Amino acid sequence: MHDPPCRRRTAGSRPRSGSGGTRVDTADRRVLRRQMLADDVYEAIKTMLMDHVVRPGARISIDGLAREFQVSSTPVREALARLESEGLALKEPLKGYRATQLLTLAEFDDLYRFRLLLEPWAARRAAELITDEGRDRLRAELATAVEPTSVDYAGYKSLTVHDNRFHTLIATLSGSEQVRLAFQRTHCHLHIFRLHYERDIGPEVLTEHRTLVEAITAGDPVAAEAAMTRHIQNSMESRLRKIYE
Ligand SMILES: [Zn+2]
Repeated sequence: MHDPPCRRRTAGSRPRSGSGGTRVDTADRRVLRRQMLADDVYEAIKTMLMDHVVRPGARISIDGLAREFQVSSTPVREALARLESEGLALKEPLKGYRATQLLTLAEFDDLYRFRLLLEPWAARRAAELITDEGRDRLRAELATAVEPTSVDYAGYKSLTVHDNRFHTLIATLSGSEQVRLAFQRTHCHLHIFRLHYERDIGPEVLTEHRTLVEAITAGDPVAAEAAMTRHIQNSMESRLRKIYE
């Protein structure tokens, strides 16, 4: 289901060493390698949680993962601490870590109610305050969107990451730091994408994002608010809620 972390990076993401260019001294290179290793372990465990290779509620063995990835327990512990802050892992006193449960229907409804309070307002304000720089940032973010290539986390990852950045950017463009922080604290994209991958939601999501960008960049607050409300309601009602039925 997943490769050991040391093989998951593409060649392009490794820092160049040796042949010409800027020389990175040995100490820096060691720090970089350690950082890459920690990030790789984090990504590998996150993928296992998102794809239910580690089932919701299951115990997570630090020693087992360290053995599997052929690393010390340190990067595994660091990864689990990060995953705990994202609500994917849970630390139990004296027992270690567990995968969190999937959102219940009540939690799912609560999360969407909260998004419907925050995000249509944020889109409206973003349209009212939009500048040329904001327009460029929105269009650049939209240009990064890639349709999913497969129905697992790897296939959806770039869409999930884009979706999260896109909604965070609109919250940022609303000018409210509190709204941005409140949105980011939900880690809603991870929890939503962890629920369900079966359906072909990529094209719909991207069409709705384009409509949002058009409304905000046109400086049309009413259209922006309506587009965000529709986007969140579609996500909730037609794309996801039925998995609970
Ligand atoms: Zn979205």
